[in-house]
Amino acid sequence: MALIVQKYGGTSVGSLERIRAVAERVGRARARGDQIVVVVSAMAGETNRLLQMAADLSDAPDPREADVLVSTGEQVSAALLAIRLRSLGYPTISFLGHQLKITTDSRHGAAKIKAVDCERLHRALSDGHIAVVAGFQGVNPDGDITTLGRGASDLTAVALAAATHASVCEIYTDVDGVYTADPNICPQARRLDRISYDEMLEMAGLGAKVLQLRSVELARRFNVPLVVRSSFSEESRGTWVGEEDKSMENVLVAGVTLDQNQSKITLTGVADRPGLAARIFGPIAGAGIVVDMIIQNAGADGRTDMTFTVPRADLRRALEQIRSIAGEIGAAGIRHEDQVAKVSIVGVGMRTHAGVAATMFKVLAAEGVNIEMIATSEIKVSVVVNAKYGELAMRALHDAFLGDGAHALPEELG
Ligand code: ASP
Ligand code: MG
Repeated sequence: MALIVQKYGGTSVGSLERIRAVAERVGRARARGDQIVVVVSAMAGETNRLLQMAADLSDAPDPREADVLVSTGEQVSAALLAIRLRSLGYPTISFLGHQLKITTDSRHGAAKIKAVDCERLHRALSDGHIAVVAGFQGVNPDGDITTLGRGASDLTAVALAAATHASVCEIYTDVDGVYTADPNICPQARRLDRISYDEMLEMAGLGAKVLQLRSVELARRFNVPLVVRSSFSEESRGTWVGEEDKSMENVLVAGVTLDQNQSKITLTGVADRPGLAARIFGPIAGAGIVVDMIIQNAGADGRTDMTFTVPRADLRRALEQIRSIAGEIGAAGIRHEDQVAKVSIVGVGMRTHAGVAATMFKVLAAEGVNIEMIATSEIKVSVVVNAKYGELAMRALHDAFLGDGAHALPEELG
């Protein structure tokens, strides 16, 4: 008998019809004899609907009250699924975050899980119950409801899988696994059978939306195997996400990602002196803005240009900061481009194969795509290009590295 955590996302529980279908699937898993913990998201669209109501009543809804409000979405779907499972004859019990002592810090809307006490959960399971848990929510030390951030039902599922030493955490969604690229942009994209935690982390961080980033971090830390699969199809084998093994190195590039939500800022004529980067980026970080890529070109006359990217949603605030800093440090000017695209290739094979970046640049050159910025890590190469060319660049790179008859190794791409 294994303990399995299954998580169903918003579209998977998006209607009563869907909840019936999920109940059938959960019931079958239970009938196989395993212990089942089910984590649910709010019904599709519900979280946004709740947040919109709060926004209609206040420019800045109180974060504590917003969490009281927004956590109800998961409460509804957990209760509905438990009601359906019981009517099918399966002993079932639903739990909210506080009932399982999913204890978090007090950062409402973005709380971090500190501890999970599984005593109640284990009791329910050993009594033969299916446990249905409301995702996305926890409780702070004062007993107030917190939420863990958008998309964080995945995180609840992984945290419970880690805490209960579940044999697998199955993430059910509306796609049948992790793809080599977004199939809406790249028709040739295909499902991956397996992907390593590290690759999945990079891909989640670079714009692949199938798994929430923090949940992958947690899965890696506690070595929780994940399976991402579709709740809409019985046949879907899904994608296994787990620890890297030797054979994965043979795959040079596991996926291509595209992030269209970046902006670029250039500060020109900055004195080339110690401390200036700190002067520039300190206040931006202080404003809670996450700077992604940075490049600095040293000029001949003791002045440099500093270019960096920020999420487009933060561009206005970043520019406000930069305008005041530019004055203080005597920079010559500020330029910005509000729409740039970041295209990345990810693969653990890059650790052991040289020339991947060069091949990437060659492919983009052949398409006439100008590269504006470059960043690399051990297992990824990212470039910033004009937003117009983002999709084209993604398709060209997918063709070259992952398309039918793609060359596996860079040496072979002449
Ligand atoms: N309902 C929450 C959201 O929409 C959490 C989740 O679905 O994972 O962000
Ligand atoms: Mg989700």
